[in-house]
Amino acid sequence: MTDACKACAFFEAAEAKPAKTGLCHFNPPLPADDKRALWPTVSAEDWCARFEAEAG
Ligand code: SF4
Repeated sequence: MTDACKACAFFEAAEAKPAKTGLCHFNPPLPADDKRALWPTVSAEDWCARFEAEAG
């Protein structure tokens, strides 16, 4: 599927674990505890209705 997170403008492959995952930057990070917030981790092969193709 071409409209997968890995091809989305909001996806950051970064160093997220496990493999084949990345971070979604569509929304601000969500509070993980009282000291930090984290970007949601998504599968590179997954998708959502907010998909936006990367420019270029
Ligand atoms: S969850 Fe949606 S907005 Fe986030 S990277 Fe995947 S397709 Fe893009």
